[in-house]
Amino acid sequence: MKHETAANHAGLITPTPDNPPLVEPIYQSVKFTTQTYEDLAAILDRRKEGYFYSRVSNPTVQQLESLLAKLQSRDASIAFSSGVAALWACFFSLLKAGDHVIIFLESYKPTRYLVRNLLARFGVRSSVLSIEDLDTLESEVRKNHTRLILFESPTNPMLKIADIRAITQIAGKAGVLTALDNTFAGFHNHGEFEVDFFIHSLTKFASGHGDVLGGAIIGDHARINAMRRDAFETGASLDPHAAFLILRGLKTYYLRYEKQAENAKSVALWLSNHPAIERVFYPGLDSHPQHALATEQMKSFGALVSFDLKESTAFAPFINKLRLFRIAASLGSTESLVAPVKLLFGTDLSDEECKIARITDRSVRLSVGIEAIDDLIADLAQALEGAFSKH
Ligand SMILES: *Cc1c(COP(=O)(O)O)cnc(C)c1O
Repeated sequence: MKHETAANHAGLITPTPDNPPLVEPIYQSVKFTTQTYEDLAAILDRRKEGYFYSRVSNPTVQQLESLLAKLQSRDASIAFSSGVAALWACFFSLLKAGDHVIIFLESYKPTRYLVRNLLARFGVRSSVLSIEDLDTLESEVRKNHTRLILFESPTNPMLKIADIRAITQIAGKAGVLTALDNTFAGFHNHGEFEVDFFIHSLTKFASGHGDVLGGAIIGDHARINAMRRDAFETGASLDPHAAFLILRGLKTYYLRYEKQAENAKSVALWLSNHPAIERVFYPGLDSHPQHALATEQMKSFGALVSFDLKESTAFAPFINKLRLFRIAASLGSTESLVAPVKLLFGTDLSDEECKIARITDRSVRLSVGIEAIDDLIADLAQALEGAFSKH
């Protein structure tokens, strides 16, 4: 064999089953071969387990999918190239023209875009409600013969708690499907509720290091398998290398999440006692308006803290003076982040909608990292002092 040929037919080294690698290998191959025509036909017909093309299935991605299902207490999942791709797949796979979907003002901004701008083009009707107004939810479901309710808890960005049992009961009585975007709550939480689908942005706590995009829909076998073809035919499949990075991130998920939640609670408590702060929202604080519900529903309260600065505290100078809390969107990675709420999450909402969603011009969202708590608090203290002294 000439070198030009050998360079393209190197052959595979496959360790024997009694000598496997400890860390999952990355199957960075788009194509999988078979020995024979008959084997290929059997795999395509699903008479035989096997791989063919990585947009359809890939061992590294499959390994991630089965772990995600387990962590969220379900038995199947589909991984996507981003969280938004998972949200979109959930909508387009479950809805058709004439159907009705309900989402909430208290949600991730692109979710509202998908429903209000994209689904509307395909004749899907929608209502965008307040997560706290369950009477309206019930009447809208009845009036519109709703097909799907998609919600979050805690909600982005101001951390309201959805009453999951009440929502799933309203849906259950009317035969409506439910999907919970569980990105903020993480895999610790909500697995015991009768939610049909969980959606996660794996970009956040799952990968944990802010260096990879990914998403997933998680649910029971029959429902997830019914979505699988729609998913791979529309192409937002997760790359195997990204799946590997997310699998690696998940090894430390519980350590990171718990440390971040502990830091977040300390930050929230400290902020609540600071004279420059109007009000603080952290589901784990007694002062949170829905603390009792949060305690009932959640095993851990997460890493997000939202608050409003007092009018006498200068907004931009406070954000600009922070050194450890870096200005960025996103959440759930190991470093602490600060997000100006209205600018990042509220520009598509009317004043009235912002009010319902609790978003003000002085709202700030923190994603608290794993740094030493004393350093984080010192950073907030110096930034608040700087912002104060401007007046
Ligand atoms: C980030 C996020 C998404 C979207 O995830 P991407 O991976 O950025 O596409 C969806 N829902 C929530 C609640 C998020 O925070």
